[in-house]
Amino acid sequence: MTARITLVQGDITRQRADALVNAANSSLLGGGGVDGAIHRRGGPDILAECRALRASHHGKGLPTGQAVATTAGRLDADHVIHTVGPVWSATEDRSALLASCYRESLRVAADLGARTVAFPAISTGAYGWPLADAAHIAVRAVREALTAAPGPALAPDEVRFVLFDEAAYEVFEEALAATG
Ligand code: ADP
Repeated sequence: MTARITLVQGDITRQRADALVNAANSSLLGGGGVDGAIHRRGGPDILAECRALRASHHGKGLPTGQAVATTAGRLDADHVIHTVGPVWSATEDRSALLASCYRESLRVAADLGARTVAFPAISTGAYGWPLADAAHIAVRAVREALTAAPGPALAPDEVRFVLFDEAAYEVFEEALAATG
């Protein structure tokens, strides 16, 4: 069975899922938006693990388009997967990097055995990506990753997009319908 792609409007830090994806920055040391909310509600254990990861594997920070996992601290999840979205550029096509965030996060989720994975709309806040374009890239990347999964054992049951406001929800709804 292929995974269901679902949409909800809300705060990702209030979601129950095996893995919650964080739109982090390459420092892994926290920031605003989703990142700030996850660290605030999840508590200091997440940041402590991020610091350790940064020190041991990514002394120069996590490259754009990649993903790593930590504990979810006090969040109602087993893991937080931190991925670094690209900053939107008017002159350079960075969509492969944005797609990579979704693909790599799902790969990490599969390694962890996560059956439910919740994503925010990566790069559409401080990183400035136009919402409709980001939504299409996100939906396409998730569909491709799910199709490419080597077997049902590695595919999650549900991939959920958690959109902060109604406008974002509607844009993702349209993207999902358009690529269905
Ligand atoms: P980025 O730096 O990747 O653009 P942001 O966190 O600034 O990341 O924004 C990404 C998206 O997440 C934006 O659409 C923003 O409205 C949304 N967002 C912000 N806070 C939350 C939250 N608590 N839950 C879900 N989405 C959120």
